[in-house]
Amino acid sequence: MRIAAEFDALYGARPEGIWAAPGRVNLIGEYTDFNEGYVLPLALPHTTVAAVARRDDGVLRVHSRDAAGGVVRVDPADLAPGRVPGWAAYPAGVAWALRDAGHAVGGADIHVTSTVPTGAGLSSSAALEVVTALALNDLYGLGLSRPELAVLAQRAENDFVGVPCGVMDQMTSACATEGHALFLDTRDLSYRQIPFDLAAAGLRLLVVDTRVKHALGDGAYAERRAGCEAGARALGVRTLREVDVTRLDDALREVDAIGDGADTVRGYVRHVVTDNDRVARVIRLLDGGDPRAVGPLLVEGHASLRDDMKVSCAELDLAVETAVGAGALGARMTGGGFGGSAVVLVEDEAVDAVAKAVGEAFACAGYGEPGVFEAVASAGAGRGAARCCDGVGR
Ligand code: ADP
Ligand code: MG
Repeated sequence: MRIAAEFDALYGARPEGIWAAPGRVNLIGEYTDFNEGYVLPLALPHTTVAAVARRDDGVLRVHSRDAAGGVVRVDPADLAPGRVPGWAAYPAGVAWALRDAGHAVGGADIHVTSTVPTGAGLSSSAALEVVTALALNDLYGLGLSRPELAVLAQRAENDFVGVPCGVMDQMTSACATEGHALFLDTRDLSYRQIPFDLAAAGLRLLVVDTRVKHALGDGAYAERRAGCEAGARALGVRTLREVDVTRLDDALREVDAIGDGADTVRGYVRHVVTDNDRVARVIRLLDGGDPRAVGPLLVEGHASLRDDMKVSCAELDLAVETAVGAGALGARMTGGGFGGSAVVLVEDEAVDAVAKAVGEAFACAGYGEPGVFEAVASAGAGRGAARCCDGVGR
């Protein structure tokens, strides 16, 4: 097993165990998680794998096969927000969040490698956090539940790395199960596993990675968050989650009363309220054994993200339009937008035609070649060599 041998070469001992945590893709429910709304993601077959051993001096040493810079050493006194630069802040942040919550986590040597594409909106960051959290939980016998680990991993990303993400990514990586999508209520973190066996229905879910990330995205997320909060205030609710789709028209009229910026906030409110409703509708379709009917809801969701939330971009729009034009049942951008990936629901026999059409459209537009792969609903994080060494040389 290559990762264990590499660990040995780096740290001069065998790891005590190997853990894996997946990336995720969100089927529907976007920009809803910071509004206490609904999301419906699934775990990908792509995972981040960590070989880990405890240390008794409190020191953390981390190494990634996928990052330059060698072993990063973090002494206990340096385990504080703002003190650990670069990628090492993700695993260090997890150790910090655990300790800060009062858990007795000592030091560790950690070596990771991943097949989750980074920066593609597929949550390589959450995979890295969750694999670290689970390994430390197991090795130090903390006895924390999966949702508890996910929340601490989110805290690491929010407060240690400094990225204001919601909890969907970490919950999916920690709690997803094979063959299911995860219906998550982000208000109380209750969730239900929704059977999602597309292959049995002759369908596939493709991910199109545009391989672009527009800088605009950085401030846009915070702006959308603030806009949604302004909308909630105007409507006298704690969060937009509380606005039912049946009273959307009234709600939009009330938002008009805020004057300056009302147009923008109206779009945000309409997106969040309708996307929460789309999640509920998609779940009804999946529960009812009608996955093909999900397609049009993906298209609706994309239009809403593009026109109301204003978080799409030319590459994502082209991927979605081309896929649907080439016969896909539906498609939409997924994740934060401004680049990253789209999901495409497609009949088995149309997979090649759709992938080819998207590739050609990108070439025609002068864009780089997109990555296209199938998203099979996969297991959440776990321990053991079997699932970590899956024929990709790990
Ligand atoms: P996403 O989560 O969509 O992939 P992010 O920007 O949130 O994108 O997280 C990507 C960052 O996470 C990388 O820039 C890197 O700092 C860190 N990261 C993720 N996976 C690894 C890995 N295998 N090795 C080192 N760093 C990683
Ligand atoms: Mg991320």
